[in-house]
Amino acid sequence: MRILIVDDSRSMRMILKRMLADMGHTDVVEAEHGADALDRMLESTPELALVDWNMPVMNGLEFVTELRTKREYDKVKVMMVTSESSPRLVYEALKAGADEYAMKPVTREVIEDKLQLLGLG
Ligand SMILES: [Mg+2]
Repeated sequence: MRILIVDDSRSMRMILKRMLADMGHTDVVEAEHGADALDRMLESTPELALVDWNMPVMNGLEFVTELRTKREYDKVKVMMVTSESSPRLVYEALKAGADEYAMKPVTREVIEDKLQLLGLG
């Protein structure tokens, strides 16, 4: 399964990438912000995107909103992975089209649980 990690923090991308590798997922693409992610998706469509909220250029909410205007990406599952924890923001992200929401700091167990919920486990 191809997974796209979208986060402006290089260390966060590395942590997630290692976690996914430990779970057997090695087909991982990285992007630094939402616009970068949309570019990467033109090359190959992931089955899952792990998306940070606060990023320059295009933030996570803007990314998921834009993504959900494109029919060709209907099947892409989006999981917000963010330290933003207010219920209002969670609601906003889900309303915009995110499928799941995980709070930083995330653990492998949390990611695994969420993948199960998304039917990707
Ligand atoms: Mg960030």
